[in-house]
Parts: sequence; C-alpha cells; structure tokens
Amino acid sequence: MGLIRLMDEPLSNKIAAGEVVERPASVVKELVENAIDAGGTAIEVLLLEAGLTSIQIVDNGAGMDTDDALMAFSRHATSKIANEHDLFRIRTLGFRGEALASIASVSKVTLHTSDGKTGTFVQMEGGRLIEHRAGSLRKGTDIKIDQLFFNTPARLKYLKTLQTELGHTIDLMNRLALSYPGIAFRLVHDGKAVLQTSGSGEIKRVISDIYGVSIAKKMIPFESESNDYKVSGFASLPEITRANKNYISLFVNGRWVKHYAIANTVHKAYHTFLPLERQPIVILNIEGDPYLTDVNVHPAKQQIRLSKEKELMELIHSTIRKTISSVVRAPVIEQPKAQKSAPTRQLDLWKSSYTVQEPPAGETASAPKPQLQQQPETALPGIPTDFPEDTRQPSSGLRQSSADIELPADSVQPEEALSREESGQEMDQFEDAGPQFPELEVVGQIHGTYIVAQSSDGFYLVDQHAAQERIKYEFFREKVGDIDAGERQALLLPLTFHYSRDEALRLKDALEVLSESGVFLEEFGDTSFIVREHPTWFPKGFEQEIIEELIEQVLDERKVDVKKIREEAAIMMSCKRSIKANHYLQKHEMERLLADLKAAEQPFTCPHGRPVIIHFKTYDVEKMFKRVM
Ligand code: ADP
Ligand code: MG
Repeated sequence: MGLIRLMDEPLSNKIAAGEVVERPASVVKELVENAIDAGGTAIEVLLLEAGLTSIQIVDNGAGMDTDDALMAFSRHATSKIANEHDLFRIRTLGFRGEALASIASVSKVTLHTSDGKTGTFVQMEGGRLIEHRAGSLRKGTDIKIDQLFFNTPARLKYLKTLQTELGHTIDLMNRLALSYPGIAFRLVHDGKAVLQTSGSGEIKRVISDIYGVSIAKKMIPFESESNDYKVSGFASLPEITRANKNYISLFVNGRWVKHYAIANTVHKAYHTFLPLERQPIVILNIEGDPYLTDVNVHPAKQQIRLSKEKELMELIHSTIRKTISSVVRAPVIEQPKAQKSAPTRQLDLWKSSYTVQEPPAGETASAPKPQLQQQPETALPGIPTDFPEDTRQPSSGLRQSSADIELPADSVQPEEALSREESGQEMDQFEDAGPQFPELEVVGQIHGTYIVAQSSDGFYLVDQHAAQERIKYEFFREKVGDIDAGERQALLLPLTFHYSRDEALRLKDALEVLSESGVFLEEFGDTSFIVREHPTWFPKGFEQEIIEELIEQVLDERKVDVKKIREEAAIMMSCKRSIKANHYLQKHEMERLLADLKAAEQPFTCPHGRPVIIHFKTYDVEKMFKRVM
C-alpha cells in the first residue's frame, strides 16, 4: 500500500501559516491589507498584549456576503484574481488567497462582516468552523484573532518580548499609513492609541503624525518619471540623519516592500551629503505597470522582482540627488525665539554638535585672544596653492551635485529643545535662500582652525580643514575621473605588492578597473604585482599608500565599480594632505582658500558630509546681545 496521502486542509493551512504568519505583526499586515483591498477608509487595529492575547481589525470597507464570509477561510480562496493573466496585473495587496486560512489555522477567530445587505458572524478555532449565523448589518468587517499560536507552541517560543513584537506592528502600521495617506488608521495597544492618522490624503501630514512636526518640516517633496516608472515622495534634508536604513520606506504600487538595492540607491543619492554610515529618512513611492513588478516572490509579499531595474535605479538616484542638491546651504545659527534669555544654551548645543569654539559666557574679552593672522613658521604643505595652477578649476562636466549641510545625528533635537515656535520657518529659508555661497571678507583665524569671515548678512566660521578637503576632493575627483588625459610619472624604484592567492586572482580580474583609476598593476609571479608608474597628480609621498588603499577597495567590494572606486579615491586623497586644525594661515592664504571654496561645486560640506561653514546672522547676533528684541 502506498505511503503517500493528501494532508487534510487544516494541516496544510497550518504548514502554510509557517510562512505567512510569523508573528503578531504579520497577522496585522494581512488583515489590514485585506481591509485596504476592501476599500476601507477608516481602519482600526486593537491589540491586547502586543497582539498575543488578541488582534482586532475593524474596517468600513465593502464587507462580505454570507457565502464569501465562509469561503474566505478556505485555502486558495480569493476574490482578487481569477486567472493567470490577473497574476501579472495585480493591483490589490492580496492575491494568494491563503492569509485568512493560515491565520485561522493557528488561532481562534471571530468575524463579523456585512456587505450592507446580509450580516454574518463566523467563529473558527484552529482552522475548524465552530459556528456561523446571521449578524449585524453594519457595513464593513470586524475580525478578531484570539490566542495566536495557541496550537503551535513552538511558534510562541520564537516570539520576542512584547515590546519587540509591538515594535514590529507599529513599524508596519507606520508604513501602511505612509503608503495610504487617504486612509485614517488608528492603532490602539492595551487601550492606548499608539498611532492615529487623519486620512486627509497628505503624506506630509502622515510623516508629521509618525516622525513629528519638526522632521516633517525638513522633508522635501520630489516627483519625476521615466518611460516605465514614476517615482515620488519625500526626502529628508541632510541635517537629519539616522543610524540605519529603517527610515527609508519603499513602496511599489502602494505596497511596502523591502528591497536592498533600492534602499542602497537612495542612500547613494545622498553621497557626500551625509556623514559616512548615516542614513536619510526617505519615503519613496514607485509606480509602474504591475507587469514590471513581480510580487509573487514570497508568501509575505514583501519582496519584489523588478524589470527594467537599471532604469528605475537611475531615476531614483537622479531625482533624489537633484532634490537634495537644490535645497542645501550653510547652516544658520539662530537665536531661539522662545529662549530669549538663554543665548548660551544655544551656543552650547552648537558646541556639542559642531565643536564651535564658544566664548565663555560674559567674558569674551578676557578669554585668550584669538591669534589673528599669526605668521606660519614654514610654508604650508597642502594649501591649495600646491595644486598645478592650470588644472584647478573643477570641470563642469563633472556633475557632483551641489552643496550641503549636515548636522550630526542628534541635531534634529536642538531645534525642539530650543522650542522654536514658527513652524514654517526653516522650510521657508530653504525655499528662498538657495545654495548661494556668500561674498566673504576674511577677518581672521581662531585657534589655527577656523577662519572668521564677514559679509553683509553676518559672520561666518569656516572649518579650514573641511574647506580644503572639499576643494581637493573636487580637484581629485576630476583627476581620477579623467585618467587618460593625465600624465604619468615613472617611479625610480618600482613598488611591489603581495597578496594572498585568492586576492591575487580577484585582482587579476580587476587590472583594467584599477588602471582606470590610476593604478597600473603588472603581474609579477602568482601572487605579486609591481607598479612602475602612476599619474602625476597622486599626492607626493602617498603613492604607496594610495595604491594600497585603491587595491583594498577593489578587494573589499564584491563587484568592481569604477565610479565608486574613483569617488572613494578622491575622498581619500582629499583627506590626505588637507591642512589640519592648529595651523596658522596668512591672510592671503585664507582668502585664497575662501575663493577656492566659493568656486567649488558644493562648498557647504566636506566630502564626508560635515559642514564647512556656519553662518551667524547679524540679526541673530544682535538678538543675543539684546540689541534688538
Ligand atoms: P487574499 O487577500 O489573498 O485574497 P485572504 O485569505 O487574505 O486572501 O482573504 C480571502 C478573501 O476574503 C479576500 O479575497 C476577500 O475577498 C475576503 N476578505 C478578507 N478580508 C476582508 C475584509 N476585511 N473585507 C472584505 N473582504 C475581505
Ligand atoms: Mg489578504
């Protein structure tokens, strides 16, 4: 007798539940998606004990008639697709017809639903029908999941703390709210509202509901399209940063998806606007023919396979980069409106985030006098003058976006701490100020580190190291990008490099790429290489180091990306010989530096994303001194 037999439905559902129902948040996801597909405009989620005790979802959508209400719990029961053709044209969030069956198989479910004509009540337990009868005629659906995983104790064990589980659900609800600003969502945990959106249709309002008003004010809208895709959304100003990519929310045709490559592209669009390792907040909506966006990759429908991915990535990159480039400028030190009596507090904040040297309160005059224009002892290595004169102008063909500011991570808060009242204030500044580099007159230098300069609208502190890094970066970036035109210089003694066998193999594959960024490696036996010459623009004394670092980059990357290598090479070289702090400059050197900075494409940040220049507005300074109120 054969050993194989078909499983009964509750068993196969329970197995399917293994993939679809991982934790309370996955139940919430499936049920809220159903409510959205049913056209609900107000959706409420009520949790007890992070959903472990119960999860209830109430919507005002289309509801179901009695037959459908019973049918809905069968595996493969769906109203959303009818044939194979539909599978490639999915416009709903659900389509697999397995969520309700899976959820019901591992919990106790009560369902009240009505399409306005019939009302139905259904009760299930462990996937088996317990009871059904006529019920209320309130149109919509009210579904409650009690004792999730009551019959699959192993699953329960995998759950994390209540706090973590709740965190997953809040995160999910945030994303749903962001992708459906027209729906009023409410999430209530143990009687307390955790999230509530208005359903007004404005994403910006949802952003504000979720991340707070001050963040919302610093989110810049964007929108553009290519042949096949349209992208739109909001991108944070570079002054707002986060430690991880969790704040990059990606939606494809209304579906929240996780897509490593897209998130990475978004991050790259901020390159040199943000400090390394920091991430922006971005809401990115991608719309395209469902035919191009295959969501039938995983039961949880959070992964997606995209056609014409390259086109889409370019669209995303250029759109976000342009958006950010167009709004950044030097950060402004402002007098807090509500804190008129405590100017020092604000300075403290800046000190902590920028290490701006602050005169001790009330004793400016007696503080050690900044040494203005002290003579340097020797000619300074690394002052911009050591660039070959004729090659200093950054090429205009090198579109490396524009300037930017970046306030360190926690600088989002200062503004709240300072309780600035006017909400529209900062946005307005960005809108009408534009990234214009001011006309500056050098006043002097502080601590051999900051150049003090003035213009008609106040005074400025320029971090000389950061400024020179920016200038050099743009210089090298052009150089690294234009290797063929560059002259080479022979080394007196060839340099030798040794690598392990597998590294050597990888390097042999990358010889061409390396030569494109100025490293001319020649094979020398199995695992060694020599370099006989290098481009003339390699900073003197750093040849070996630079070549090693470039090789390292190639070895680190899984795939070789010339553009990226060039970019990183430029950043690295710009850093190598830039004037450090504690270096006294002569006035003409400072003037030269500021003039070069002004000519830079992005004068406001160094290539690592830190600010180069800080503006103290005349008006704000006057307010600090109480000359004006
Ligand atoms: P899918 O969403 O993939 O179709 P589900 O198992 O999640 O599969 O749901 C099965 C069917 O039940 C849906 O296709 C839909 O017709 C119906 N349904 C589920 N939830 C709701 C709801 N909140 N309002 C109206 N109909 C619903
Ligand atoms: Mg569904």
